[in-house]
Amino acid sequence: MINIAKPQLSEEEVRAVTDVLLSGKLAQGEKVAEFEKAFAAFTGARHAVAVGNGTQALHAALLASGVQTSDDVITTPFSFISSATTIVHCGGRPVFTDIDPRTFNINVNAIEELITPRTKAIMPVHLFGLPADLDELRKICDENGLALIQDSCQAHGASINGKPIATYGDVSTFSFYPTKNMTTGEGGAVVTDDDAIAEHVRLLRHQGQKSRYEYAHVGYNYRMTEMAAAIGTLQLRKLPEWNNKRINNAKFFDEALAGNDKITTPLVPEGYGHVYHQYTIRVQNRDEVGKQMAENGVGTGIYYPRGLHQLGPLAGYCDRSMPNTEKAANEVLSLPVHPALTDEELATVVEVTKKAVE
Ligand SMILES: *Cc1c(COP(=O)(O)O)cnc(C)c1O
Repeated sequence: MINIAKPQLSEEEVRAVTDVLLSGKLAQGEKVAEFEKAFAAFTGARHAVAVGNGTQALHAALLASGVQTSDDVITTPFSFISSATTIVHCGGRPVFTDIDPRTFNINVNAIEELITPRTKAIMPVHLFGLPADLDELRKICDENGLALIQDSCQAHGASINGKPIATYGDVSTFSFYPTKNMTTGEGGAVVTDDDAIAEHVRLLRHQGQKSRYEYAHVGYNYRMTEMAAAIGTLQLRKLPEWNNKRINNAKFFDEALAGNDKITTPLVPEGYGHVYHQYTIRVQNRDEVGKQMAENGVGTGIYYPRGLHQLGPLAGYCDRSMPNTEKAANEVLSLPVHPALTDEELATVVEVTKKAVE
């Protein structure tokens, strides 16, 4: 079976975790500080604050950006659930706007009409590793005094015209879940150039504690472990090579599937640095195609089978339909694109995909 994801872990990570365990220092300490420094450098931002997972990163980033009760955050309905539930955790309200069907990302032309005095921030999601239109989003946020909170949980290393996404501000969040482009087991990071946001997130991560038993906020335990950070530092060194392999795999699929009128391959706007967390095509009879591919040894993924506005706990936040999202949710199929695929496996994925859509 060719799986949709395969975490890349070697003896190196095993040794690093063993060393941490034997050191007896397991909770946030030197290894976390070392990982944060390296991750900040990689993203091009001044600060990276490591936390326990991507959902915690989003929650802390929203709080540190000032999102609170009765605030609106404009976001995409085509994402993982915690992009929106973390807005609700702050007491805020996710305001969904439909996607651009070509990129699967938030349609920047439909945002301004939704801005009201309640609007506090815009949260784009760089879905599948393709940046949202950050030039336009930055402009809208600046013109309207809104925070730009990026869900970059699928986009480690993505860029626009060579400019890393995190440098568009105000704050960017990452996940290191096992299926992401790099992993720490569970893990996350908040990345920003803003000293005040970074400090606020650091406090929130550790019970709001400013100095021993002096508290500045109602905080959380959102700390990363030393084991996770030790894995992260090693993974980060290998990430550029892995991303290149994903990009080359995607290029292979683009060429091999081109001209097949039953398959729509991913569109990448000129200058956009897609890092292919997922290689997602559109097909008709998607469920049948996926089932047949599994029978022929190729695992696929459906990200996502429903829009966030169609999910029970979030449906109350949206009374409009989102036709582009709903159509995409019925048609998307992600193919294995991870860096461990061999040339032979890549050829098999193409062959099995073409056969399944016939
Ligand atoms: C993975 C992911 C998250 C959540 O990250 P966790 O580490 O699983 O909490 C949030 N948003 C998006 C878009 C993701 O892909």
